[in-house]
Amino acid sequence: MTDLKAGSSSELKGVPFVDLSAEHQPINDEIRAAVNAVIDRGDFILGEATARFESDFASYCGTAHALGVDSGFSALELILRAFGIGPGDEVITVANTFYSTVRPIEVVGATPVLVDADPELRNIDPNLIESAITASTKAILPVHLYGHPADMAPIRELADAHGLHVFEDACQAHGSLYRGARAGSLSDAAAFSFYPSKNLGAFGDAGIVVTDNPDVADRIRALRNLGSVVKYQHEGDGFNRRLDTIQAAVLGVKLRHLDGHNQARREAASYYRDALAELDVALPTVAEWAEPVYHLYVIETANRDALAHALGERGIQTGIHYPVAIHLQPAFRSLGYQAGDFPVSEELAGRILSLPMHPNLACSDVAVVADAVRDFSTTSATVS
Ligand SMILES: *Cc1c(COP(=O)(O)O)cnc(C)c1O
Repeated sequence: MTDLKAGSSSELKGVPFVDLSAEHQPINDEIRAAVNAVIDRGDFILGEATARFESDFASYCGTAHALGVDSGFSALELILRAFGIGPGDEVITVANTFYSTVRPIEVVGATPVLVDADPELRNIDPNLIESAITASTKAILPVHLYGHPADMAPIRELADAHGLHVFEDACQAHGSLYRGARAGSLSDAAAFSFYPSKNLGAFGDAGIVVTDNPDVADRIRALRNLGSVVKYQHEGDGFNRRLDTIQAAVLGVKLRHLDGHNQARREAASYYRDALAELDVALPTVAEWAEPVYHLYVIETANRDALAHALGERGIQTGIHYPVAIHLQPAFRSLGYQAGDFPVSEELAGRILSLPMHPNLACSDVAVVADAVRDFSTTSATVS
């Protein structure tokens, strides 16, 4: 957290990166009532609120099924298991993403095969996928990074031509639209995370799988719950990966506010677009077929580290999502990639900066950030 030095610059107002208490304050009573109802019923595991939230979230996404799990990581892992993906199989995904997109592929025993991002949308570049397909490829896993959907139509076309599954890492994209259809409904199965700072966040770890496929839904229902649908009858592989009823109750309340929160994020993004337009930073591109939900608002600049430092001095919190591309993370060294393999992802990692973004970000907060970026550009222009 940024240290706001008391008294040093009292006229400067800091801007937090996210503001969960502002997000929850107006719905506090609703949330507490929903949690109290679970406490009163005592159905803490796979209770009424879990079933209700699953049905509401499936309708929201436009899918037939939703299965609550304990995290986005588990959602991805259980999707892979439900489709029978394991040792000897390859899953194609993108080098410009978070650890938890890629690690579940290894956890099931399969091999992640990375491709580079497209420099404009910063998602998997559909033109680079075909050359990564081998006889062992089983699936393609695009990520809707920062809440902007990946270009799913060409990916589906390639997958159909090669007999592959398509999954979505929709962990940053609750509510975003691709050609009018919701993230989560664009593939064979999709994973969402409800980590607290996501566009739809629980009060702890939580996630969900959505799918239209009833067999996959049944398999995930068993996988998440000890390989069992009927108590004490264990039919197959099992794990303890259930969504807590209390978390589902919180999420059920917050889901009703998701569209409003996403709209507020889009408004904040449009303030940024206006306020930063003339400055020496690259702003996020929006494809004409996309309605993004701005999980993050990520600009690019050659002077990223110095800019982040200058903003920090004014109490403006920023982040880097992510500072090291997947193939250069020590954890994925065994995949055998090298620096230079995915130049777009590598360049992004050095240039990207996530500015404060949340549903309660006011126009005046954006003005504070934009002033700081402008002052930085003016002073750094004289030295560079
Ligand atoms: C948050 C996130 C995940 C993992 O979600 P958890 O709930 O934290 O396990 C996976 N992929 C992406 C892109 C994410 O942002």
